Amino acid sequence: MRYGEIINRNLERGHFLTKQGELIMSMLSVNNIEVVYNHVILALHGVTLDVEQGKIVSLLGANGAGKSTTLKACSNILPAERGEITKGSVHFDGQNNEGMQPTELVKNGCIQVLEGRLVFRNLTVEENLLSGSFIRENRAQAREDLDKIYTYLPRLAHVKDSIAGYTSGGEQQMLAMGRALMSRPTLMLLDEPSMGLSPQIVEEIFQIVETLNKEGMTFLIAEQNATVALRYADSAYVIENGRVVMKGNAKELLARDDVKEAYLGLGEEGRVNFRDVKYYHRRKPSFS
Ligand code: ATP
Repeated sequence: MRYGEIINRNLERGHFLTKQGELIMSMLSVNNIEVVYNHVILALHGVTLDVEQGKIVSLLGANGAGKSTTLKACSNILPAERGEITKGSVHFDGQNNEGMQPTELVKNGCIQVLEGRLVFRNLTVEENLLSGSFIRENRAQAREDLDKIYTYLPRLAHVKDSIAGYTSGGEQQMLAMGRALMSRPTLMLLDEPSMGLSPQIVEEIFQIVETLNKEGMTFLIAEQNATVALRYADSAYVIENGRVVMKGNAKELLARDDVKEAYLGLGEEGRVNFRDVKYYHRRKPSFS
């Protein structure tokens, strides 16, 4: 299977044309999706994005912008919250996700780590990790994977017999990621991994992401912490009120003054106050 940069979307869904005229596809392709909750609340108004294999892509935006909804649309878990895709499509690995059970997607390699580091609080760390191997028939493989996960996430090895609910926020976030790794995903949809964590732990989490990415894992990461997310990402999308308002190479976005002011709270003369940022938001930077 070939993946690559997209220059023309006017082809069969999930397949695209490269600059060299090759027909290839993106690993995850979200095509102009509209999402509605409870039949009435329109949360996404036509979101389009692509995640190339082997890349880290960030989805940035404020509270309620639609980041989690986009991720849930990709992993097909919207129905659990009375949400549905009413327009557009999502393709993972060239296949339309429509009608697929979330477990089927997990088996195919696409897994979501939900916001809020949801772990089984009364189980031990290791029991939580083992619960992530539910799709696996071969139990011996699960033990092998555990050892690998402890090398990626050494903090978990130290607390493997502790009750998950008593571990720190950072350890719980690592546990949520470790449990997802137990399904041997190729694409991880990571929702707000920095939420409520100290800058040092956030850095540690993103370094783990970087290591896993070097091992071949692809990431789509929803984040409000644009500074750290842009530093580790290859490319990024900014979403506002259910619409993508900006996209591009992460390093280039990080260097843009309008992005710094509107999304990172930094002006040329240092940090600007939130009221100014909001004012700047209303003036809207020029999006490309
Ligand atoms: P946050 O970081 O706060 O989760 P977000 O960017 O992930 O923000 P979403 O959670 O996707 O945003 O929310 C997008 C919109 O959809 C918001 O207006 C939100 O109120 C609405 N929404 C999200 N989940 C539901 C739900 N289960 N039922 C109804 N509306 C919802």
